[in-house]
Amino acid sequence: MPGTSTVTVHADRETHPSRAVAPPIYQTAAFAADDAETFAAGALQPRGKDFYTRYGNPNHAQVAAVVAELENTEAAMVTASGMAALTTAVLALVSAGDHVIGQKSTYGGTASLLLNLLPRLGVSTTLVDQRDTGAFERALTPRTRLILVETPSNPLLHITDLSAVADLARAHDVLTLADNTFATPLNQRPADLGIDVVWHSATKYLNGHSDVSAGALAGPAEILDRIWDTSLLTGAVLGPIDAALLLRGIRTLPLRMPRYNDNGQALALALSGHPAVTQVHYPGLESHPQHKLAADQMNGFGGVLSVEFTGGFAMADAFLSHLHYPRRSASLGGVGSLAVHPAAMWAGMLSADQLTEAVPPGLIRLAAGIEDSADLVADALHAADAVLAQATTA
Ligand SMILES: *Cc1c(COP(=O)(O)O)cnc(C)c1O
Repeated sequence: MPGTSTVTVHADRETHPSRAVAPPIYQTAAFAADDAETFAAGALQPRGKDFYTRYGNPNHAQVAAVVAELENTEAAMVTASGMAALTTAVLALVSAGDHVIGQKSTYGGTASLLLNLLPRLGVSTTLVDQRDTGAFERALTPRTRLILVETPSNPLLHITDLSAVADLARAHDVLTLADNTFATPLNQRPADLGIDVVWHSATKYLNGHSDVSAGALAGPAEILDRIWDTSLLTGAVLGPIDAALLLRGIRTLPLRMPRYNDNGQALALALSGHPAVTQVHYPGLESHPQHKLAADQMNGFGGVLSVEFTGGFAMADAFLSHLHYPRRSASLGGVGSLAVHPAAMWAGMLSADQLTEAVPPGLIRLAAGIEDSADLVADALHAADAVLAQATTA
């Protein structure tokens, strides 16, 4: 198999037999057929590309070809957002009466799906501490159909043992879905470790430029066919222009990822020694309690880290205000660094108890961009010095 950089540049070539070097954008809602038979067949073609754009479009097929090859899966498909990918997949794979296992530390939308939407539809759920592989086993019931994992997790950077969970699930005939947004296929390939379906917020690293909302799913064709069938009903279709932008972004993922990894590591190392900081959560640090597991299943540790400050909520907030390069934003994985204060962001969404359980008040999530490491480190240290000085004079 060619290397990842070759894959991102060439894997889609067969999907657009065109002489255009840059793939054309098929900005059309529908495609015409020459005869009734071809037309009828088009409607039945899972992840097809020339019937109706909600059913599939050449620009979707191009990105899907690249994602499937990067994730080393048989097939892939794209959706309008990461949440569209997850919700469509889960609705396709579970029914009322079924049970789903998820993680306590997980993306907010995933948590809400597990805690609110699924129970409302008669699907019971259990959230476990992913650091304890035995917890997944103890949560299994005879009705368990699906396990949702996310590693490293948002925003605490906990690690899930992907092989162990995949083996456990397989032994009990349970499907596994892994959120690979933080790692990307450059740092981690869940399917190689036995996970059934991999999904992404392609809004983040895959697109890489903070200008598109998109999602992706990768896995065996038979499972993706079922998810595609449900996607016709959820209708969260990625616009052709956004698919083309995503393809443009993903072309440079193998160039960007090593820089994110370097910047994440540099920021984590620099901040872990700082007197304003109680703890840095980053799987690339030897002090991370699951560093060995992370090193075993990952090729790099990514650009996201979270930092806890000695002065709690107020100091974390002040740190954000003192940062020059990272902007205060909920996203990650673009070219520019972004930072967020989860306890402040979720204050309106969660009850006080849920909030304390979910995240320490003095935690900041930093998502490094592709800027020069030295500049990001100097900026972060300057901000940490500033909040420390403020705390001492106060
Ligand atoms: C952003 C994000 C999502 C949700 O994706 P959207 O594209 O915003 O719908 C899911 N998982 C993780 C880890 C994320 O960071």
